[in-house]
Amino acid sequence: MIFHSARIKLTLWYLLMIMFVSAFFSILIYQGFTTELERELRSQTYEIQYQNSRGNVIKSAPIFDKEMIGAISNTILDKVRKQFMIQLFIINSGIIFFAGVAGYFLAGKTLQPIESMVEDQKRFVSDASHELRTPLTALKTEIEVALRDNKLTHNEASALLQSNLEEVNKMQQLTGYLLSMGRYENNTQKLPKELVSLQEAANQALERVQALANTKRVKLIAPKTKIEMHAHPVSIVELLSILLDNAIKYSNPGGKVTLAIQEKKKSVIIEVIDQGIGIKAGDIPYIFNRFYRADTSRSKTHTEGYGLGLSIAHSIVELHKGIITVDSTPGKGSRFVITLPR
Ligand code: ADP
Repeated sequence: MIFHSARIKLTLWYLLMIMFVSAFFSILIYQGFTTELERELRSQTYEIQYQNSRGNVIKSAPIFDKEMIGAISNTILDKVRKQFMIQLFIINSGIIFFAGVAGYFLAGKTLQPIESMVEDQKRFVSDASHELRTPLTALKTEIEVALRDNKLTHNEASALLQSNLEEVNKMQQLTGYLLSMGRYENNTQKLPKELVSLQEAANQALERVQALANTKRVKLIAPKTKIEMHAHPVSIVELLSILLDNAIKYSNPGGKVTLAIQEKKKSVIIEVIDQGIGIKAGDIPYIFNRFYRADTSRSKTHTEGYGLGLSIAHSIVELHKGIITVDSTPGKGSRFVITLPR
């Protein structure tokens, strides 16, 4: 609704501008034309008067006196002016009509990206609030039930606090993601880049996910590289952590996750390979969208997540002018490949 009225307003502004330009030129043309016409008629009048005064009257032409000639010229002038004005009015009406149609179309085109951005933001806020409400509701219910229980034992209280802590951790992870999205997705300033040792970045990322790998009994294979590149160090570690975290999350217990880094011509190729559940071909186009979670992850393995990791990873790769691709076979595993220019 707000965009429709904005579109109308923008169209009216376009129209106002066109009307102004069109009226300005019409007045100029009208004035130029009438001055020229008057001048022409005056010279014709003088010519006839001159011929009359010399007695050189063209035989077939009637003899006019001065007033008659003046009256005739004024009548002709008025008539031509009127006709010209009508023509200008018709042309201007046409211009305004077409400008109105084109303006409405152009206003729609101008506003369309803003409209879809606002829609995107709205969807994002509602999805984020929804995701935050779930752990908050669980937390509230647990606390309320515990408060009503007069005979709460020490063990029960500590189990309750443990469960509360899990919910708080979830919220902390989600707010962390949201902050990262704000940092990378609407990045108007350039991220400060410096020379980053990819071995160092890989080690930091592997350290972050080691605990999860231990819990899931997943073996991590680290890269061996001397490559250095200009990049934003914090975001590179975050990118690797997201991909490794997913690879472990969607691996089967006892599986293997490999992080490989190599150089090809002027690019750095980073690969994260797992032997996990894989991704269905139909899901692949959507996995980089915000809050998108493939069904298999929910129904089969009940893996925790918000569907934000890959969207952040995608933004980080874009900020480094790189590309991220995935090939995956359900039941066999996935391979995420990031190509970054050096
Ligand atoms: P999350 O993992 O929190 O759900 P992501 O944005 O990181 O969110 O991933 C989106 C979806 O892509 C996941 O829900 C999962 O279905 C799929 N996915 C991502 N990485 C893998 C992987 N390594 N193996 C299988 N599926 C994956």
